[in-house]
Amino acid sequence: MPSLVDPYACFFTPAHTTAEQVAAAFATRGGPRGGIRDRVRALGAAGLLDDVGRGDVRTLAVRRAQLAYVDAMDDLAFIVQELGGFPLEKSGAEPAILARARAGDSVVCFGMTEPDAGSDVAAMTTFAEPDGHQFRLTGLKHYISNAPEADHAVVFAKLDQKIAAFMVDSPVTEPQDVSGHSIGRVVLDATPARLLASRGGALALATLERCRPTVGLAAWGLARHGFDHTLDRLKSRSQFGKPLAAQPVVQSRIADMALDLEQAALTALWACWTRDVTPVDQRTGYTSAIGKLTATEACGRVLDQCVQLHGGAGVEEASLIQTLWREARPLRIYEGATDVLKTVIAERWL
Ligand SMILES: Cc1cc2nc3c(=O)[nH]c(=O)nc-3n(C[C@H](O)[C@H](O)[C@H](O)COP(=O)(O)OP(=O)(O)OC[C@H]3O[C@@H](n4cnc5c(N)ncnc54)[C@H](O)[C@@H]3O)c2cc1C
Repeated sequence: MPSLVDPYACFFTPAHTTAEQVAAAFATRGGPRGGIRDRVRALGAAGLLDDVGRGDVRTLAVRRAQLAYVDAMDDLAFIVQELGGFPLEKSGAEPAILARARAGDSVVCFGMTEPDAGSDVAAMTTFAEPDGHQFRLTGLKHYISNAPEADHAVVFAKLDQKIAAFMVDSPVTEPQDVSGHSIGRVVLDATPARLLASRGGALALATLERCRPTVGLAAWGLARHGFDHTLDRLKSRSQFGKPLAAQPVVQSRIADMALDLEQAALTALWACWTRDVTPVDQRTGYTSAIGKLTATEACGRVLDQCVQLHGGAGVEEASLIQTLWREARPLRIYEGATDVLKTVIAERWL
């Protein structure tokens, strides 16, 4: 399994080498893997969730690259604990749930998106009403990763016209059918909830600015797997009397893929490093957007080249390349679609 730390050592410390070795050993473990709950439990037992919400972003990135290279579902189990856990750490409101999330004993999800409020988060209609010391939430969240197996959901809802963050225990969910994902709706019908933060919009942004650049390294893990697999194929498959790898046009594509992989890793790691060295309450929306956008688009191009170079074998439903392409595609949509991130980047200059 390729190292992310060795070739980009300027971004890392010896602690990252250790984190990478532990993640690689976990990623290549034997035995059945099960659903999200089993995987979260296994991640917790291996210590990979110990610093949910408080670790540095480069460690998240290193772990995601290793997990995604082998099994995208492990990466999903891992990062959604962070998405749900960071608001708990930052608000300080639910230490017991956070401790269970770190131990791998609780699955936590992050509920922002609604059917009519996707990229336009401010349009959300889920609302909160006070009920004694607590609140009741009414609305519908959809495309919520890991929701079908979640014990707790961080839910964003309007309170007095402003977005606030709440905790919902044992959320009522309905599964949705998105390839390679455990995903679903969270149904809120005067559902009891506890307030995490009244400035929920800022909390959501801080969570996304932290996680967005790591999406780029998950994409790198998937694309690097596709690249390695494609190189093997090009060396072993002969057409026109010689291996495909000997064709100059194929070599040009190999160079293009290598350029995209290096560009993806460098840009996303720069964004991760920037988040790590920036004071916690200062925004990094610009660099996080650049890291995610550049890496996920570059890795999308790599996997498209892999499909092309496999010929018909690249579009067989159950082939590895087809699976990797399908797993990588949503990364350009969730946590800020490419087009929306372009708006964030342009705003910085206008
Ligand atoms: C696999 C997967 C996992 C997800 N997990 C979660 C989760 O855990 N929690 C959660 O809350 N949400 C989650 N989401 C939801 C995700 O964040 C949204 O799908 C995403 O924000 C886009 O919203 P939408 O699907 O409603 O698309 P829309 O907002 O309808 O946008 C569709 C497309 O229109 C374009 N577009 C939109 N706005 C603009 C603009 N201003 N300028 C230019 N172009 C624009 C973009 O190309 C965009 O892709 C997940 C989604 C997927 C697919």
